[in-house]
Amino acid sequence: MAVRKLLVAGNWKMNLNHLEGIALVQKIAFTLPDKYFDKVEVAVLPPFTDLRSVQTLVDGDKLKLVYGAQDVSPHESGAYTGDISGSMLAKLGCTYVAIGHSERRDNHYEADAVVNSKVKAAYRHGLTPILCVGEGLEVREAGNQIEHSVSQLLGALEDVTAEQAASIVLAYEPIWAIGTGRVATPADAQEVCGALRAALATKYSAELAEGVRVLYGGSVKAANVAEIVAQADVDGALVGGASLDATEFATLCANT
Ligand code: PEP
Repeated sequence: MAVRKLLVAGNWKMNLNHLEGIALVQKIAFTLPDKYFDKVEVAVLPPFTDLRSVQTLVDGDKLKLVYGAQDVSPHESGAYTGDISGSMLAKLGCTYVAIGHSERRDNHYEADAVVNSKVKAAYRHGLTPILCVGEGLEVREAGNQIEHSVSQLLGALEDVTAEQAASIVLAYEPIWAIGTGRVATPADAQEVCGALRAALATKYSAELAEGVRVLYGGSVKAANVAEIVAQADVDGALVGGASLDATEFATLCANT
């Protein structure tokens, strides 16, 4: 059975300028002992404008945490005002890129086809997608959370090869739990994370599915992370609000 290294990723969303970002990363790195990073991988996903500063800090101080972006353009270059390409992110040393976050899907009308083209763009540039899926409250109340999340997963993986998909990170993020303080129960998280892994096994292979990390995201905090990552198919957390405070985030990491 594959041993999956836990991953905690902090999604800063549109918070923290580059100076605040540097201060936060310094505090996290100096709070967690070096050996901690052998057990759990820690990533931060700052706004684009902070990435160069985070890169300089991480490289300069040889920090063990990694970083990534919150979005990527499906295009290579050209007349796409406001977009950031995969090659730009790769040049900034990004390891990860979040794709398909519900706030992108809702606020920027990103359908599965767009998410799919961004996943492929990430792979073209050696970036690892953190692919976010998850249902809204109505879907959950109708009991269709698995169908919904699996359908988003399969839409995002259209024409993605097994070789590429083997490195993907999935994040199950029920929309009703994001930023609301209403965390899914560990059993809720396990149910959908397990179903996502099963869908990968069907589309690719059981071996591939066993190696892929599936995170849970939605109001994860230092106080509730342990019971969530104790679930068999949950391999870490995607953290929004609680990633903005160094003490809370470092404690959350330590409790993972
Ligand atoms: C997120 O936006 O990815 C998220 C999980 O947010 P929060 O932790 O604040 O619910």
